[in-house]
Amino acid sequence: MYQYQHLCRIAGKTWGINKNIRRLLYKTVIERTLCHGAAASGHNMTCRLQKKLDSIQRLFLLTGAYRTTPTAALQVVTGLQPLHLQIQQEATYTRVSRARSSSKLFTVIFSPTDYESKSSGIHIHPPNFLLHNQISFAENHRDSGAKAIYTDGSKTDEGTGSSYCILENYGIIASWQGKLDHSNSVLQAEIFAIKMAIEAASSLHRPIKIWTDSLSSLMAILNPKSHHGMVREIQTLLLSHKHIHLRWLKAHVGYLGNECADQLAITKGDPFFLPKPLSYRKSEIRSAALSIWQDNWDNGETGRSTHDIVPRVSNKPVGWIREEIMFVTGHGPFPSYLHRFNLRTHDNCFCGEKGYPMHYATKCRYTLSWRFQTPTVSLKLQWLKNILTNNLSRTRLRLLMRFVCDENNLIVEDNN
Ligand SMILES: [Zn+2]
Repeated sequence: MYQYQHLCRIAGKTWGINKNIRRLLYKTVIERTLCHGAAASGHNMTCRLQKKLDSIQRLFLLTGAYRTTPTAALQVVTGLQPLHLQIQQEATYTRVSRARSSSKLFTVIFSPTDYESKSSGIHIHPPNFLLHNQISFAENHRDSGAKAIYTDGSKTDEGTGSSYCILENYGIIASWQGKLDHSNSVLQAEIFAIKMAIEAASSLHRPIKIWTDSLSSLMAILNPKSHHGMVREIQTLLLSHKHIHLRWLKAHVGYLGNECADQLAITKGDPFFLPKPLSYRKSEIRSAALSIWQDNWDNGETGRSTHDIVPRVSNKPVGWIREEIMFVTGHGPFPSYLHRFNLRTHDNCFCGEKGYPMHYATKCRYTLSWRFQTPTVSLKLQWLKNILTNNLSRTRLRLLMRFVCDENNLIVEDNN
C-alpha cells in the first residue's frame, strides 16, 4: 500500500503520467516487490490472499477507469495478468529451477528433469583436459575408402532428429537414426548424434574419425568449462577412448558420408527423450499461467462485453484508453450505468430513449455529429471491432465519449 501511495505522489493525483510508464512502474516496482520471495508465499495461496492481491493490483488497473469496472476486464485490456497468478507462476519457476523439485501450477506439473540442467563445478581437471589432440577443425576432408563415421542433426517442421552412418569402401556399413522431440534444438540433435557415434566407435580398436558439420558442437566439446551435461559425457568418453577423433567438415558440398547422414537425420527412427532446452522452462510455465488466465476469462461472469471483443488474453496491452474502456464495458457516465448502480431512478436518455453506450454512438440526437451508422444486430460485434481497429473511427469514438462526459448534465439529467 505504501508503494501505491508513493507512486501516486510521483504520478500526481490525477495519474497524469503516460499509461505506458504507469504500466512499467507496475511491472518493475509493484509486481517485482510482491513476487520477491514468492517461492515461500505462492505455494499455498489462500482464496483470501488471492483476493487481497487482486485488490492491490486493481488500484493500478483502475487509473482513469470507472471504479466499478470489472477487474477481469481491466486485466485483459492492460495485458496484466492477475497478480496472484503472476506470483504463483514465479513461485513455480523458482521451485523448479532452484529447489530442483517438481512443482504444480494449478493442475499442471512441472518437473526439473524435463529440462536441461546446468552442471556445476569442474569435472575434468585442466591438466587432464587433453582433447586438443583428438579434435581438429583444420583437417581437409576427402572421400576415401577408409572407415569413418559421419554425424548430423536436423530440425524441421516435422521434428528434430539425429543420425550417424559408418562408411567403408564408399558404402554404408552401418547407420543409426534417433527421433527427438519438437522442443529439442538442432544443437542438441548434433551433440546427441556425436555422442551416439562415439559410443559406436568405442568398441572399435583402431583409430577412427568422426566427422560433423556442426562447428558449435565441436566448440562446446572443446570448452573445459562447459556446463552442458551431454557435452561433459562426451568429453569423458573421448578422454578414455584416445583412438576416437572428432573432425569438422563443411556441410552440403557433396561429401558422401555427410550427405548420407543428412538424409538420415530426417526425424525417422526410434524416439529418444532428451530434456528440453532450458529456455522452455520459463516459457512453458508462463504459458500454463496464461491458459489458466484464459480459462478464468472465458468462464468468468464479469467483463462479458469486453470478452466479446477481446476473447484472447495476452501479456500485451490492448491499447485502449479511458474512453474506449468506458464504451466497451459500459462503465461510464451513461444513464444505463447510473441506473444500474442505483444512482438514478431510470435509464432513459434526455431524448427519451434508453441511454446505453450504443444509443449515443448510433441514435441519440444530441450526439449527431459523432454518430456512427447503426449496425444490424448480427453485425454489432464486427462493427465494434472495426471501430476499435480503425484510427479514424477510434478518434471519433473518443470525441463522442468526451462529449458525453462533458455534457453529462444534458444527457443524464434525471427528468423525473
Ligand atoms: Zn439520447
